[in-house]
Amino acid sequence: MPNRSVHDFLTVASSVIVSPITYSVLYSTQELREWAPVVAALVFVSHNVSGILFSPDLDMDTHIHKRWGMFYVLWIPYQMVIPHRHFWSHGLVIPPLLRLGYFFWMILLCLYVIETIAAYFGVHVPALQQTVTQGVLSLVIQNPVHTVSIAAGFVTGAAVHSIADWLVSGGTKLLRMLFIPPTRGMQKKAMAQQTVPSRWLFDPFSSDSPHHV
Ligand SMILES: [Zn+2]
Repeated sequence: MPNRSVHDFLTVASSVIVSPITYSVLYSTQELREWAPVVAALVFVSHNVSGILFSPDLDMDTHIHKRWGMFYVLWIPYQMVIPHRHFWSHGLVIPPLLRLGYFFWMILLCLYVIETIAAYFGVHVPALQQTVTQGVLSLVIQNPVHTVSIAAGFVTGAAVHSIADWLVSGGTKLLRMLFIPPTRGMQKKAMAQQTVPSRWLFDPFSSDSPHHV
């Protein structure tokens, strides 16, 4: 699979394509025209945040963790629980939104721990987790267009990474299939089936995963 700098480049380069396309599509639709600039901007930002900070490689790449500085600890449980190079980290649509939800729950957990420790020492602190939850929920409910735009950017940012992994691991093998004759006893068709697994992109129960090259 591509290394970090290639993934970062692909994330930024694709955002420069995805965002103007989003703008053009919305601007050409009369009812959505007024939303075009803000949606395109939100998709641009969330696409890059998803690909660079919330990268699918948070499942095992400690260099991605380092981008979070001291907050890298938030991702340790994720790394321990999520299967490496699998649908739950590299699949399309659900995994990037799962990372966003996981991050939100970890923030709430941290606030709960702070409140509990403060209460233990007799220090009264306001119920921060409830305040944050209510604030986020009301923002989501009152701003559905912004919410959907951010979610869409998160999905596209991660999808570029996952598809790049799939193309490189599958593509390399595809090249091998094209240029290297199948070994004796292995039909070319069987080799093709074996070489480009993609089910892990969509299926949570798949045992397939992208290959390292
Ligand atoms: Zn990856």
